[in-house]
Amino acid sequence: MATREVRRRAAELRSAIEKANYQYYVLDAPTIADEQYDALLRELTELEAQHPELVTPDSSTQRVGAAPSERFRPVRHAAPMLSLANAFGEEELRAFDQRVRKALGRDAVDYVCELKIDGLAVNLTYVDGRFGEGATRGDGITGEDITANLRTIRAIPLTLREKVRGRIDVRGEVYLPLRSFEATNAERAARGEAPFANPRNAAAGAVRQADPRKTAARDLSVFMYSAAGLDVASQHELLARLRDLGFRVNGDWRLVCGADEVLAQIERLHEKRHALGYGTDGVVVKVDAVADQERLGYVARSPRWAVAYKFPAEQATTSVDDIKAYVGRTGVLTPVAWLAPVQVGGTTVRRATLHNLDEVRRLDVRVGDRVVIQRAGDVIPEVVRAEHELRERDLPEWRMPATCPECGGPVEHREGEVAYRCANPTCPAKQGQRIGHFVSRGAMDIEGAGPAFLTQVQEKGLVSDPADLFSLKLDEIVALERFADKSAQNLYDRIQAARTGRPLGRLLYALGIPQVGETTSEDLARWLADRLGPTATLGAIFERLRSASEEELQEIEGVGPVVARSIVSYFADEEERAFLDKLVEAGIEPVMPEPRIAPEESPFAGKTVVFTGTLERRSRDEAEDIVHRLGGKTSGSVSKKTDLVVAGPGAGSKLEKAEQLGIKVVDEETFERLASVHTAVR
Ligand code: NAD
Repeated sequence: MATREVRRRAAELRSAIEKANYQYYVLDAPTIADEQYDALLRELTELEAQHPELVTPDSSTQRVGAAPSERFRPVRHAAPMLSLANAFGEEELRAFDQRVRKALGRDAVDYVCELKIDGLAVNLTYVDGRFGEGATRGDGITGEDITANLRTIRAIPLTLREKVRGRIDVRGEVYLPLRSFEATNAERAARGEAPFANPRNAAAGAVRQADPRKTAARDLSVFMYSAAGLDVASQHELLARLRDLGFRVNGDWRLVCGADEVLAQIERLHEKRHALGYGTDGVVVKVDAVADQERLGYVARSPRWAVAYKFPAEQATTSVDDIKAYVGRTGVLTPVAWLAPVQVGGTTVRRATLHNLDEVRRLDVRVGDRVVIQRAGDVIPEVVRAEHELRERDLPEWRMPATCPECGGPVEHREGEVAYRCANPTCPAKQGQRIGHFVSRGAMDIEGAGPAFLTQVQEKGLVSDPADLFSLKLDEIVALERFADKSAQNLYDRIQAARTGRPLGRLLYALGIPQVGETTSEDLARWLADRLGPTATLGAIFERLRSASEEELQEIEGVGPVVARSIVSYFADEEERAFLDKLVEAGIEPVMPEPRIAPEESPFAGKTVVFTGTLERRSRDEAEDIVHRLGGKTSGSVSKKTDLVVAGPGAGSKLEKAEQLGIKVVDEETFERLASVHTAVR
């Protein structure tokens, strides 16, 4: 029997969860982190498992989502829209597989693994092949009628490619591509509004607008993954059938057998997640055979035949033990928070960047604060916010040091700039960082030239800038500590090999020009290739950059006044000049980028293309990208200025308008054919 204490805790947990549900599902503005929410729900589930008499039908463990908002007409779902049970880590996934095998009395079970899209679940009803009604999940039983808003999403077919008699209910996830998510948040910040916490809340906000025009202005898309009313025997057949009917289905699903293969697929998707362009927070693992699904059945809020494997959390809470300034290769002092070690995204994090003094002030982070940190992909962990409400006493504000922590030189701060810099040109920290950057992966990629090597060659005075690496002799490397003959020879060979064959973009990036990252370096390389041709020498390349004006550089897409100024001042600097000359003398021969497709060869050069309806071969983003790469423009609406309309299934008013205006219309096949004439498009 549950004690009073246990009852009190259960009530407390329910109240905290319900409050979070309301903020998350109704207001689209969560106030606690997902991990915190999951921990509350887990604690309640465990309490209820130990004390079953505590389970009530209205407990948060029995319910899905939150009550639908009164802004929309309620829609009762034909079948409940449920949530999914979670699995955190391998052990819980294996436990799920074991339960399934036991219930089915089988040694191995086939599963379909799908990406768990970080969006908003919707139900689309089609009657006799026509889109009728669309609703949110709501509380799982009753959703909100958002038909008018969903009609504006181009990836939702209004008519199916095949007339399916009667009613079908298709379910999937409406989401906002990360690019649009970031743009939405930037706009909100500019208007002084709070940013959306995650892509899911942003998508929910966009799709639950009172005015469908506001939804249409967002770049929403959709992936469908389940349906009732289609006669299929398995999940993998269902996905193929949905695609045939004209629905957008995420292509990253796999049919696998047993827990080991499921885990391998999860691993693959985990690695890929940051290259996707949309948010995903895990992998949904579903028993493939419908007959097996039916045997396994449901519990209150989720099916027994599926589980959501959650990727390790990329946010965590910890405390700031210290804040120190680090000197980077351009001399900029970066404040870094030293943290009490914490697990994030599968690794232990001890430090997180605070970027600059403005950011320290904006976040108001102080030594002793509790902070939320975030790790995204390969990006260095950063501090997202400080939990000021937990500050128990007054903490002193952090200040930028007045002298360089590495060399004691003066720290300067130019008017109008965010950065504070060490003004000593020979600051050893600057040089060390700079050489490290030069050899790094995205730059000259000299494997084996790690910190142990770089520290020694600098300390011995063998290398004082990156160009000196190329004059290192084999016996000098052999003489270093921890370098056996073989590893010294390998490193020497790799350094020599780096003289030739490195793409120009990478070499430019390796120089470490302030403000010039990988993308700008690529663009700069392309700009140079267009002007100097495929066989320019490094000397000619540097000469051309020295003679470039700020105005001229701003012709390059993505180069604004700040970047242009930085490039010009880098190439005008006398010390840099000496270094660049040394690189030329070292015989570095970078490879020029491939020339761009000549305009006369491209079917889209100078043309404006509009896509309408559903694309099946690739996402709309990809298709638009192809047009851009081939020198064309794209637009979201048809006008007299449109040259070509690419229409897929479900094309509506835009197709009509194109026909009225006499604009050329082609189908996706023809578009692909036009595009594939060019080797640039794969
Ligand atoms: P869920 O997001 O963990 O999983 C169920 C949902 O996954 C489905 O409803 C569907 O929308 C989605 N999904 C995506 N891809 C899918 C696919 N391929 N196949 C099937 N379904 C797919 O569960 P939930 O009930 O929607 O939300 C619970 C989660 O939301 C919590 O774990 C928490 O992270 C978050 N939450 C946070 C707060 C907060 O205050 N921070 C509050 C409420 C909920």
